[in-house]
Amino acid sequence: MDIWSIVLAVLAFIGAVLAAFWLTLIVWTFRDMRSRSRDIFAQILAAMVVAVLNLPGLVIYILMRPKETLAEAYERSLEEEALLQGIEESLACPGCGNRIQADFVVCPTCHTKLKKPCQNCGHALNLRWSVCPYCSAPVLGGAQLQPTEATPAATGFRRTAQRAEEVSEAPVGPTET
Ligand SMILES: [Zn+2]
Ligand SMILES: [Zn+2]
Repeated sequence: MDIWSIVLAVLAFIGAVLAAFWLTLIVWTFRDMRSRSRDIFAQILAAMVVAVLNLPGLVIYILMRPKETLAEAYERSLEEEALLQGIEESLACPGCGNRIQADFVVCPTCHTKLKKPCQNCGHALNLRWSVCPYCSAPVLGGAQLQPTEATPAATGFRRTAQRAEEVSEAPVGPTET
């Protein structure tokens, strides 16, 4: 075995390693770009840059690629949406402007009446509502329904409401220790 065949074998081995490395870089770049962009042209372009320029191409790609992956961008959009909803839910009292919760019945600062409790199920209702959206009971004492005009169904609801109040008040005493 002469020296040249050994040199050739070593060169071939180094060439194979470099070719594998080169291919790995291209595949990695293509997959990395695919996780950051749905644009097939951008994916191929990124792989081409690395294929032609190799390591300098990879450095250029890493500098130029989109900052976030698609999964990260999706997560961020969800977080922003949740944040936006939180802002919408943090209401202000019409009387004093202090922050109130959506289910507050009275403003704790200025005592402005914000909601009225449903006579039937006790849910906090918007003052404008004429029917309870939780139990479908008509809202009594509202502008739409005077006590003298109360229908038999409405008085029935009032009676069940009184019973519900008696029941709900009963367990409060013993729990306070
Ligand atoms: Zn207030
Ligand atoms: Zn109700």
